[in-house]
This record gives sequence, structure tokens and C-alpha cells, in this order.
Amino acid sequence: MDDLFADQMAASLPELNRSAGLAQLDMFLNKAGITYAKGRNFDLGPGRHHMVSRLSGHLRRRLVTEEEVISAVLSRHSFSSAEKFITEIYWRTYFKGWLEMRPSVWHQWLLDCANLPRTSALAQACSGQTGLDCFDAWTDELKNSGYLHNHARMWFASIWIFTLGLPWQQGAEFFMKYLRDGDPASNTLGWRWVAGLQTRGKAYAARADNIGQFTRGRFFPDRQLNEQVYAVDGPENPAAQPINCPMQLALKENGKPYLLLLTSEDGHPESLSLAHPPVGVATLPVLFSNHFCPDRGDWMRSVELDQVEQIALADIAERAQTHFYLQYTHRVSLEEDCKAARLIDNVQLVDQAAEQLLVLCRQYQVFDLVTAYLPVGFWANSFERLRSHPLLEHMRWHLVMRDFDRRSWPSATKGFFSFKSKIPAWLGKA
Ligand SMILES: Cc1cc2nc3c(=O)[nH]c(=O)nc-3n(C[C@H](O)[C@H](O)[C@H](O)COP(=O)(O)OP(=O)(O)OC[C@H]3O[C@@H](n4cnc5c(N)ncnc54)[C@H](O)[C@@H]3O)c2cc1C
Repeated sequence: MDDLFADQMAASLPELNRSAGLAQLDMFLNKAGITYAKGRNFDLGPGRHHMVSRLSGHLRRRLVTEEEVISAVLSRHSFSSAEKFITEIYWRTYFKGWLEMRPSVWHQWLLDCANLPRTSALAQACSGQTGLDCFDAWTDELKNSGYLHNHARMWFASIWIFTLGLPWQQGAEFFMKYLRDGDPASNTLGWRWVAGLQTRGKAYAARADNIGQFTRGRFFPDRQLNEQVYAVDGPENPAAQPINCPMQLALKENGKPYLLLLTSEDGHPESLSLAHPPVGVATLPVLFSNHFCPDRGDWMRSVELDQVEQIALADIAERAQTHFYLQYTHRVSLEEDCKAARLIDNVQLVDQAAEQLLVLCRQYQVFDLVTAYLPVGFWANSFERLRSHPLLEHMRWHLVMRDFDRRSWPSATKGFFSFKSKIPAWLGKA
């Protein structure tokens, strides 16, 4: 049973690029205060998520950065009236920092996905044929739009784990396959939170009356759900390891020419803190943002999402070219023939990428390669292999970390509420 998640997504998903993100932000700004605080828990159904920002796909790739969203919101609302929205943005930051300090949680999830048996109950859930109206409708919505409302994600995950009795890891994999905002930290830790692994012993129960209230009666799965939930068993959370925040001084001091490598992990190179402009820019292969599952001979994320990612990368490269006054941008790329690229695995992909990168380095006569910091996740996994590739052993690699992350991530040592107490100080509102 190797094609459990084989259903196609909608053929054309809305594009993710910076101007679409800024337009979305602009549309939402007025609602970021009291409207969001009062309305954010209502899931009104596909095409009707007007009380939340729907910025997650853009924020996930930093096509629009957290800092600029927060600053736009604070230019329209006081901190106290927009506090709820700003706090939600910082949930993302908290999860990023938490996982950065505990990368083994991510690697274990990838291993679990490879090893768990793929059952017929799993196939039923993934194809939206459980007979539970709400669950099946959310499955369709996810596949058709690449999005689910936060409350629906919580109900969905809870039903998946506690009513259908399926492993949370496979639920997270299913989300990762289809979510346009699929994020290693928010997704893995969101599922662990529902399962009761993240906040140890506290699992989240989806309740029929709560679903009825917050879907405004669209669904009311009375007596169909297991509402008596107990946290899933699992090992203790690993202790936090300090984050290895890169120093930026080396590049500043040597003043050498360098190539800027772009990924969709950070889609706003214009605001990166770079000592001087690059002599060239190149995008890394979009399949670096995906994961090859050797046992299944397939990639984790859908072809449609790779296309969305490719468009986002093209937008990032185009803006970088304009911003740094460059004549060209390059693609370290196998995606001219994306279908063929999907037939080869990560190892071959990294070999080919290293060869292309070496040619570019020779063409520009550079030994310095710079990229925005790559947090724990798919991009970082592939990048580490590229960095240690024998063909590139003479290169000097530099990672540029944003001050926003440098300041906040190390505080994700305990629970969110201790992290949250620092937000006013970070924003100069203490
Ligand atoms: C099981 C589960 C899986 C999830 N998987 C992802 C994921 O892969 N990627 C992802 O970005 N979010 C994920 N979330 C968090 C949240 O559901 C989405 O960020 C949110 O629904 C996106 O919609 P929005 O942009 O309209 O959010 P808004 O309510 O408008 O919030 C604004 C922004 O704040 C951030 N945010 C809001 N809520 C959360 C949260 N609970 N955790 C982390 N960040 C948050 C997002 O960047 C979001 O775009 C998951 C939540 C759960 C329960």
C-alpha cells in the first residue's frame, strides 16, 4: 500500500510570492485587533476564513517577515488590542526556537514516518472516507486548498489520534504533504501538542459541542468522538541544547566577493544583514525543501507544493537580482525537468547540486558562500550534505541569522508562557 497519500491536490493553488503576501497583509490589517481576538476561533468553512490572516504560507517562507507583519499591525493598533494576534505570531517563533534546541525530535519524526506500518485505517483517513462528516470535509479542504483553520487542525489532529487511533506521526506527515504552510517546527510540535507530548500529559480533546459552536453549526459530531483522551506515551522531551548562533564578523572583515544562495526558508534577502552586496545569487534546488522517503521511493510533499515552492523561489531570486543590481540570477537546479528530478533521491540530488555550484564558484571566482540561517528542517538537512560535499571542501560557508531569531529563539527553553512574557520587551513595549 504505497500510494496512501496519492490523491492529487487541486491543480492550481494560489501563488505564494511577496506581493501576494503584502496584499494579504494589507487586507487583514484592520482586523488584527479586536476582530481577530473575538473571531479567530471560528472556522466558517472553505473560502470563509476572513477572521484570521491566512498569512501562514508567506510567513513560513519569510516572503513577508514576522517583523514587518508585527510592525504593520502596531502601526494600526495598540499593542494591547493586537496582543492576541502578535502572540500567535510568536507561537511560530517559539516552536522554531524549541525545535532548534532539540533537533532530535525532528529526526526521530522522520524515522518514525519511514518505519510505521501503513494500514488500511490510515488509507481511509487520508482519502476522507471515515464517515465522520467534519473530518472528511477537512480532509477535502486540506487537499483542495492547502490550508486548514487552526481550530480545524486541532480538532482534526485530536480525532486522528484519539478517535481513529492513528499514530500522530503519520498525521503530521499527511499535513506536511498538503499544507502550503507545512513547517517542520509548527507542524511537528503542533501534532505533539495535541497528542500531549509537547506539554507533557496534557492532550487536546476535540469535543462535539465545541466543534458545533465554532463551526456555527456546520458540524456537530454528537457521540461520534472519543472525548476522554489521555496523553500518548513517549519519551521525555530532550534537554535544550544551546543554539549555535553564527557570527557574521568573518564576512564583514574579509570583504571578499561571495555568492548568495537563496532558499525559500528565508524569502526576503533584501532585509538580510549582509556586509556588502553579493557578486552573484543562485537558488538552491527546490527539492532540497522536500524529503525523499527511501523505503517508498517517493518524496514526502506533493508535486503541486513543489511547484508552489518553485514559484516562491523564482520570486525571491527576481527580487534579489533587482535589489543587488545583478545582471543574472542562477538556479542550482534540476527542476527544468522536475519530473526527472523526482526520480532521483537526495544523495544524487546533492551530488548534482555540488557540481553546479562548483561551476558557478569558478565562474565568479569566489570561495565564500552565504545563505540565510537554515533552521532545523528539510532545507537544513540537504544543505548540510551540500556543505560537506568533497567537491566544495575549499569553500567558506557563512550563515546569516536574523536578529529577530537570535534574540528570541534561545528563550524557548521552557513552556510558551514564560517565552510569551518576554514579548513586550522584545517589541519595546515593556
Ligand atoms: C496539528 C497542527 C499542525 C499545524 N501545522 C502548522 C504548519 O505546518 N505550519 C504553520 O505555519 N502552522 C501550523 N499550525 C499552526 C496554525 O494552525 C497555523 O499557523 C494557522 O492556522 C495559519 O493560519 P493563519 O495564517 O490564518 O493564522 P493566524 O491565526 O492569522 O495567525 C497568524 C500567524 O501566526 C502563526 N501562528 C498562528 N497560530 C499558530 C500556532 N498555533 N502555532 C504556530 N504558529 C502559529 C502563523 O505563522 C500564522 O500565519 C499547526 C497547528 C496544529 C494544531
